[in-house]
Amino acid sequence: MPVEKVVIEKQVVDSLLSYSQMSYPREGILLLRGKVKKGVAVVSGVVIPPAAVHGEGFSSFSWFMLPVDSSFLGVAHSHPSGNAMPSEQDLLHLAGRIMVILGYPYTGPSSLRVYNSRGRELPFEVE
Ligand SMILES: [Zn+2]
Repeated sequence: MPVEKVVIEKQVVDSLLSYSQMSYPREGILLLRGKVKKGVAVVSGVVIPPAAVHGEGFSSFSWFMLPVDSSFLGVAHSHPSGNAMPSEQDLLHLAGRIMVILGYPYTGPSSLRVYNSRGRELPFEVE
């Protein structure tokens, strides 16, 4: 069943925002954990990817290092440009069920955009 809606726990949103702020002016990348139930993806945790990839940018991310287990939902990364639309590279590198992009200045949930595995924007709620 495809993901139709996304719920992101408040503490996850806070982690995404502060990690993006810390990484600025570079891109920050975090792995998303959670589960999908009846088309709703619930994001309940984040994992910092291996230090080696930090700051290299989303398109050069080392995909083979992804921990592929049942709780892996997708990847979140920040766009220091402020444009939270996926780039061509982002769409080529989509992994997992969802992708979250944060657009600078990372001030709150309105800085977030959530996309499915085909790059279509999905509605999300913060809980
Ligand atoms: Zn990107």
